[in-house]
Amino acid sequence: MQRIGVFVCHCGTNIAGTVDVAEIVEMAKPEPGVVHAAEYPYMCSEAGQNMIINAVKEHNLSGVVICSCSPRMHEATFRKAAEKAGLNPYMVEIANIREHCSWIHKDKAEATQKALTLTRAAIAKVQLNSPLFPDESPVTKRALVIGGGIAGIQTALDIADAGFEVDIVESTPSIGGKMAQLDKTFPTLDCAACILTPKMVDASAHENITLYTYSQVDKVEGFVGDFTVTIRKKARSVDFEKCTGCGACSEKCPSKKSPSEFDQGLCTRPAIYTPFAQAVPNVPVIDREACLKFKTGKCGLCETVCAPKAINFEQEDELVERKYGAVVMATGYEPVSLDKFGEYSYDSSPDVITSLEFERLTNAAGPTGGALTRLSDKRKPKSVTFIQCVGSRDVTQRGKAYCSKICCMYTAKHAMLIKEKYPDIEVNIFYIDVRTPGKAFDEFYRRAEDEYGVRYIKGQVGKVIDNGDHLQIQAVDMLDNKKMELQTDMVVLATAIEPVESAKSIATMLTASIDTNNFMTEAHPKLRPVESPTAGVFLSGVCQGPKDIPETVAQAGAAAAKVIGLLVKDKLMSNPCTAKPDELYCNGCSVCENVCPYGAISYEDCEVNDHGVREVRRVAQVNKALCQGCGACAVTCPSGAMDLQGFSNRQIQAEVDAICR
Ligand code: SF4
Ligand code: SF4
Ligand code: SF4
Ligand code: SF4
Repeated sequence: MQRIGVFVCHCGTNIAGTVDVAEIVEMAKPEPGVVHAAEYPYMCSEAGQNMIINAVKEHNLSGVVICSCSPRMHEATFRKAAEKAGLNPYMVEIANIREHCSWIHKDKAEATQKALTLTRAAIAKVQLNSPLFPDESPVTKRALVIGGGIAGIQTALDIADAGFEVDIVESTPSIGGKMAQLDKTFPTLDCAACILTPKMVDASAHENITLYTYSQVDKVEGFVGDFTVTIRKKARSVDFEKCTGCGACSEKCPSKKSPSEFDQGLCTRPAIYTPFAQAVPNVPVIDREACLKFKTGKCGLCETVCAPKAINFEQEDELVERKYGAVVMATGYEPVSLDKFGEYSYDSSPDVITSLEFERLTNAAGPTGGALTRLSDKRKPKSVTFIQCVGSRDVTQRGKAYCSKICCMYTAKHAMLIKEKYPDIEVNIFYIDVRTPGKAFDEFYRRAEDEYGVRYIKGQVGKVIDNGDHLQIQAVDMLDNKKMELQTDMVVLATAIEPVESAKSIATMLTASIDTNNFMTEAHPKLRPVESPTAGVFLSGVCQGPKDIPETVAQAGAAAAKVIGLLVKDKLMSNPCTAKPDELYCNGCSVCENVCPYGAISYEDCEVNDHGVREVRRVAQVNKALCQGCGACAVTCPSGAMDLQGFSNRQIQAEVDAICR
């Protein structure tokens, strides 16, 4: 029998205001194994912890129950206190009488009754606790950043500056991401390329950073501190070492009709191309779908004009395997498809464009040299109308229920950019609400309205009709609650953003979780916002949720700090609350292997002594370093062979029995 101490916390009035703390103490005293029970106003305070430490020593306690807040808050605090008193930290159990009782009940009698029940359950559980000991595992002092936009670049630079090696894997031929496509940035209106390209160059030149552009992650194995990642370097058909970036190949390439990805399809590019002038690395790639040599076997002009003989039509994808201690997801976003939004005539009218297309149109390095012209007839528009929240805050199945967060601000920016260049163009903005919570954001939006004369219309657009000469907008003015019509020459849709398609499969490889919108889930939305629930996987930028550039850079720095905190360690202690199979009962059915989300279960042929009969059986084995202690295998195992240390079937049953007493 354990010698158990029960410590009941008031949490000021957080608990004591709704739960009768003294009654819990009195109830606990006669419970089996309890030799000491006490209360204290703030158990997590230094004085509270000292009280626990002293009681463990004085009463020779072998188990401790703390009735307080959620274990997510202070389990680690109390385990450390127990350890200081000489107890194994896993001999501590928490009864959550705050979040599960006082905070959710108004009636004191009911809340106290529930707190009593939870306390009884924790006492019953700790009776069956046994000391657990974490294993040690080494840390590979190298990080992988997946995604080479501003989030990935900043994360990598911060990690590299701290002295650790870091690799960036970027799927497109250049780092830079969406920010490289932008014209100006809000609220300062400074040139996106001017502030981004020095960082791209820094990342490329940094001695601790290796870039894998035009590459993708094919496979991830391992666990925190020791990931093994297979990177596919897609065949560029150009030799990296030999190419000087002279551009002669792109100039001479006769196949120039492919839509430019960088310019959002507003112009074309050759089959051999670098996505944009400041691309890093400045090495072209051959688009094999468009290249005449690959399609017909004829051509090869690029090879002829390439003086350093860098063209290599025979090049094949290369697989490289690297070890990492930590992985950062920085996969970014893409605008949602407008297929389901036919009312805006995006697919049928060339003069209805998305905001990202507008960025390229207004950019001096873009397809029109920065001149704002209609795509249908190349004339300068007399009026431009923006529609916000296209696909955002849409509770129907068509769009996204969330706010994309950046559209109000970039639309105000677009409106100002037009007015600065062409004061005579009329600019209208249809909005549902204007959301501008960032620093100097509201002032920025008001400048658009007050200083630049942009007309904001609180209204919902029902239809955009292309009449050839102009576009007719049918809408409802939400302030007057009246139908309205507006004639305009160009419509810009502030399109919702969503995580890139590949984020889902990469998250699966990393066994990291995603939410219903495919954004990466944080370990805790408030307290651990840049960590994924999977140990060693960190989050940077829009892959975690919509955010603007300053927020992205701040989160990148935070993710880097977490990675550095991990990589400075030589060894990691693993959570000992892992699954443990009983070889005698395991029949090797594979059910647990199929449900384990972390790939922690494998099978081995083992010699088993079954009541004196020795036989070799295929039985489950758990890789403790991979197991996250989720318990899925234990509840699924049809033979009851799998158990979770620290949450064994017997312990859970004892809790249930105590609750039902
Ligand atoms: Fe409040 Fe938890 Fe601290 Fe007690 S241990 S004072 S419940 S925060
Ligand atoms: Fe110049 Fe050859 Fe490189 Fe093309 S592949 S940019 S021609 S060096
Ligand atoms: Fe262009 Fe011809 Fe070279 Fe293909 S082989 S990239 S079509 S020049
Ligand atoms: Fe896999 Fe079981 Fe560990 Fe969960 S508890 S991670 S299912 S082995």
